[in-house]
Amino acid sequence: MKPFKNERYTDFTKPGNRKKMEKVLKQVAAQFGKEYNIIIGGRRVRLDKKFNSYNPSNKGEIIGRFQKADEKTAEQAMQVALKTFESWRYTPAKVRANYLLRMARIMRRRRLELDAWMVYEVGKNWLEADADVAEAIDFCEYYAREAIRYDKGPKLLQYPGERDEQIYIPLGVGVVIPPWNFPLAILTGMTTAAFVSGNTVILKPSSDAPTIAAKFMEIVEEAKVPVGVVNFLTGPGALAGDYLVKHPKTRFIAFTGSKAVGLHIVEEAGKTQPGQIWIKRVIAEMGGKDMIIVDSEADIDSAVAGVRASAFGYQGQKCSACSRLILDDKIYDKFMEKFIPTVEAITVGPTRDYQNYMGPVINESAYNSILEYIKIGSAEGHLICGGEPAPGNGWFIRPTVITDVQPSARIFQEEIFGPVLAVTRAKDFDHAIELANDSEYGLTGAVYTRNRKKIEQAKREVFVGNLYINRKCTGALVGVHPFGGFNMSGTDSKAGGPDYLLLFTQAKAIGEYIGKKKRPRRRKRK
Ligand code: NAD
Repeated sequence: MKPFKNERYTDFTKPGNRKKMEKVLKQVAAQFGKEYNIIIGGRRVRLDKKFNSYNPSNKGEIIGRFQKADEKTAEQAMQVALKTFESWRYTPAKVRANYLLRMARIMRRRRLELDAWMVYEVGKNWLEADADVAEAIDFCEYYAREAIRYDKGPKLLQYPGERDEQIYIPLGVGVVIPPWNFPLAILTGMTTAAFVSGNTVILKPSSDAPTIAAKFMEIVEEAKVPVGVVNFLTGPGALAGDYLVKHPKTRFIAFTGSKAVGLHIVEEAGKTQPGQIWIKRVIAEMGGKDMIIVDSEADIDSAVAGVRASAFGYQGQKCSACSRLILDDKIYDKFMEKFIPTVEAITVGPTRDYQNYMGPVINESAYNSILEYIKIGSAEGHLICGGEPAPGNGWFIRPTVITDVQPSARIFQEEIFGPVLAVTRAKDFDHAIELANDSEYGLTGAVYTRNRKKIEQAKREVFVGNLYINRKCTGALVGVHPFGGFNMSGTDSKAGGPDYLLLFTQAKAIGEYIGKKKRPRRRKRK
């Protein structure tokens, strides 16, 4: 197998690629409104209760129609996953890894189609959608190689007369609960990591992005992953929480989403149920209140570009998005003079149109909550730009900047998950780090400075799972920037890194007496 390499992005500046994408966008739109099934052990399940997924750029437009799973269906999925585990757990790692490689090839072939579904269902612009698919491909390629590496096991000291080894074995049935904001990448990452390690999965996608999850299932099936390894259960989040998380046969939960839901899952999974014979493992990656420090010795132009992309890329709806900007007093005015015009120039509208940099926020409740935060923020600081809806029939909000925000302010502490940037002043670099660390979260952060001593200080003292120097704080790459945060940002699982598959396995040490070599004589105790 060739060494892992990150997938390249589609170059939409090329007119040929734009033309192809336009065509695919039309083809995908022609499939709106289709009904998708629950899939349990390959069996298609339709239920009386349904729900719709909507286009956030065009209110009321139905993207797909889905089954609302109930407890009975969840139990069926659990039974199939348990049964399938008995054979899947012994399938050689190489065979399991090959399914992922096949899935990567299919995703490459269906690349623009997957991009297009994301443009419509979650309002990503073309580039953001394409980067999401590229990351999903990376996860497949990376975890395939990782599964083979783990299968070899670590090198242990060999006791004379013994063969000593440590092997990694799967855990059991896992419930995978992804968010909507990286609807293909995170879902693919958590699901493939779980099943390439020999576990079986019940996948409960977000109700804001179920069509993309259904496309993922098509790819799983096209790659001929044995039925029952991944079971697809659409429905309300509480079903996953209240039934599957509590289920005594659930061995682990891989969750990415908000702090509130993550903590609820941690709590529920911690209660031992009758008949449960293990401690459930919870991988919970949660929210962020990510910051960028621009120091007095920073390259201002590059910081302006980095903050703009980090704060407003995908409408600020990335867990890694910059929502706190900490400016050294000495460059505050200079930075803002350059920064604000670049924010005002951001185009907002349906991402179906290539020229729109920002699309809608995900749904009505996010829209209302973000506007409410803007109201609170306008009282806590000075609203400099944005702060209102943008025209159109979608959940559009203008990129918003609020300055002179006190560190204790709500908009400086709470995750808003939208295009709202709170700006504060720091007296010097020490103060900037103090402000940066004044958070219950600890996911990502970036520091712009040319001073080597300050860079080293930041590496030591800034408390985040993913720290970037002189670049934006979003855009982690698989294999390059293992991803996961501290504190209330989660369990620091480091997705896309060399430790990730450990979370989906348990290690078994085996010492076999072979008796060939002489054992060393132990000194007798006197
Ligand atoms: P969310 O917590 O609302 O939902 C996440 C998933 O949990 C969804 O699939 C949802 O259906 C499910 N869910 C809802 N209620 C549940 C319950 N009671 N029990 C079990 N599952 C339940 O989050 P979201 O709005 O989908 O995603 C946005 C959040 O995700 C933000 O806070 C963002 O910062 C975070 N996020 C974190 C990372 C990371 O790596 N740390 C990455 C992406 C997103």
